[in-house]
Amino acid sequence: MNHDFNVLNQKNYIPNEARYTNMKYRRTGKSGLLLPEISIGLWHNFGFNDNFENSTNILKCAFNHGITHFDLANNYGPPYGAAEITFGKIFKRYFKPFRDELIISTKAGWDMWAGPYGNFGSRKYLISSLDQSLQRMGLDYVDIFYHHRPDNDTPLEETMGALDHIVRQGKALYVGISQYSAKETKKAAKILKQLGTPCLIHQPRYNLMDRWVENGLLDTLDNVGIGAIAFSPLNQGVLTNKYLNGFPKDSRAVKDGRYLKVDQINDELLLKVKKLNDIANSRDQSLAQMAIAWLLKDERITSVLVGASSSNQLLDSIKALDNKEFSKEDLSEIEQVLKD
Ligand code: NDP
Repeated sequence: MNHDFNVLNQKNYIPNEARYTNMKYRRTGKSGLLLPEISIGLWHNFGFNDNFENSTNILKCAFNHGITHFDLANNYGPPYGAAEITFGKIFKRYFKPFRDELIISTKAGWDMWAGPYGNFGSRKYLISSLDQSLQRMGLDYVDIFYHHRPDNDTPLEETMGALDHIVRQGKALYVGISQYSAKETKKAAKILKQLGTPCLIHQPRYNLMDRWVENGLLDTLDNVGIGAIAFSPLNQGVLTNKYLNGFPKDSRAVKDGRYLKVDQINDELLLKVKKLNDIANSRDQSLAQMAIAWLLKDERITSVLVGASSSNQLLDSIKALDNKEFSKEDLSEIEQVLKD
């Protein structure tokens, strides 16, 4: 019997040969990098309490359908670092031969380790955090390294200088920022350009119910030539039909409750979800599919960064790509529901 686990499992994984047939790829800002219209995030469902086989199946399903972009951060888990370790195991067993077909990203900016050097935006934190991330994932480099959130107490020159340094070290191919305002983004982009490492991409929270990026950020990104990848496009699962008939035991709100709490999902919110669900059904889509398609109708959005707790969910979400057209009536009905 062959006990070489890596060889054994690599042999077992033959990705779908037609994986590039249906997925569309969009240019990231003015860069040379194309990203799939749908990317997969490992914030949830890749921690030490999650089922390893299920996590593996989600990534295999993603890659089999042309999702070439896997998004991580130093503190995804729980515990912090766990998602990178889980990913590292899956990568080693199944994806290593396909490294050059993948765009792997990680981030630092939120709390990660004890003491003054494991949080925010210092050069000290960002450079050591990426070293740790690479070790956990078993990679020589990531494709994109992000500063995870703005830090008003650290000079932007220091934070952007750290990103530039990381690229020059060969530890990341591109850099990005997350949740920076339009004004902060302009400043950061200017510094990075002067340093010779252009800002590739911005990762903001953007979904039907959270529209802050429409207030200047998307225009700024378009003007400066930076890509946009929208996170939590399903509002952590609220923009699906899953909470319409109660609170499923295996849902994020019930199972986890750290970032999405049951009492946030109140009757008022559910009434809107119900109306959006009706509009989606009239388009022959699930609400999840409509929520993703609605983001992709805007060409300024490079990619929609979904999460999934199973490969079936991901398959459902991918079907969003079958209908990204919205009539004026659909759009105004959607706006009316959200205004009410
Ligand atoms: P989503 O809004 O896509 O929510 C994903 C959750 O929605 C799933 O875990 C699942 O929840 C539910 N779901 C997904 N697909 C379906 C479907 N088709 N039908 C029904 N329910 C579905 O995204 P996330 O909030 O998970 O964020 C996505 C990624 O964005 C993260 O993994 C991370 O990479 C990134 N991110 C970045 C942040 C940043 O600060 N830059 C912050 C947060 C996220 P359930 O478990 O209930 O089944």
